[in-house]
Amino acid sequence: MSDISAGSTHRLHEPLLRWYDANARELPWRTESATPWSVLVSEFMLQQTPVARVLPVHEAWLRRWPTPAALAAEPPGEAVRAWGRLGYPRRALRLHAAATAIVEQHDGEVPAAHADLLALPGVGDYTASAVAAFAFGQRQVVLDTNVRRVFARAVTGVEFPGTSVSRAERDLGAALLPDDEPTAATWSVAVMELGALVCTAATPACPTCPIATACAWSAAGRPAYAGPPRKVQTWAGTDRQCRGRLLAVLRDADGPVHRSALEAVWADVAQRERSLAGLLTDGLAAQVGPDTFALPG
Ligand code: SF4
Repeated sequence: MSDISAGSTHRLHEPLLRWYDANARELPWRTESATPWSVLVSEFMLQQTPVARVLPVHEAWLRRWPTPAALAAEPPGEAVRAWGRLGYPRRALRLHAAATAIVEQHDGEVPAAHADLLALPGVGDYTASAVAAFAFGQRQVVLDTNVRRVFARAVTGVEFPGTSVSRAERDLGAALLPDDEPTAATWSVAVMELGALVCTAATPACPTCPIATACAWSAAGRPAYAGPPRKVQTWAGTDRQCRGRLLAVLRDADGPVHRSALEAVWADVAQRERSLAGLLTDGLAAQVGPDTFALPG
């Protein structure tokens, strides 16, 4: 592991901040005029979903619901409908619940304090830190998948981080944060951007990387990953895929849907029933008649 000097003087800072300044993507939740609500919505949507898929949904969402109050005034089912095919649709319900809590507890303004953000439905430590940093310019340790991978490679010298965030990673993230608050916030998003654009999981572009000369993994000859097996996301034939198909039928309908329309999109009876039961339990669908279903009201 390379040495970590404290605060604002670490050798990774200058080249990475300069690279970010020249190469950052222009994303709507990063503009000067982006509201904290826009940032919060983006963080919900970006969990496990690529930027390209989030962009159109985020834009339509903000146009329709420019404030938490606008979203909270509509039924949760409308949030599920507008979520479209982003996946993991429980996030839509949680975002609606967060908007409701913001209206009820914070006069409709996204709170700035990490503890207040953390208390919102669907907001975990990562999202609270990200919103505090990116919407309010605070000095926060922000550890998403991309940041963890960059730190693992550049500083720790291994190809991938562990399966869950460790204490050592938090300490490392804190030690690497620039002292100055706005610079710290930029640093957090810069590391994230490097992981998304250059230090990608499968094909890191080391020859064009701004911190290549300081990278421990690269210096060690890019040794192969030797940790526990990494999770591989499967999709085809899973309950997740089945739930997605059923939900698409409900979302695309103007009113309640008969059971037969659900049967038409998934042949395996046991899996279909299990998935439908899951949607009902999660509040993503409602049974409105003996054999009819709809988005939640
Ligand atoms: S040199 Fe390669 S492995 Fe190291 S941080 Fe840059 S892209 Fe990642």
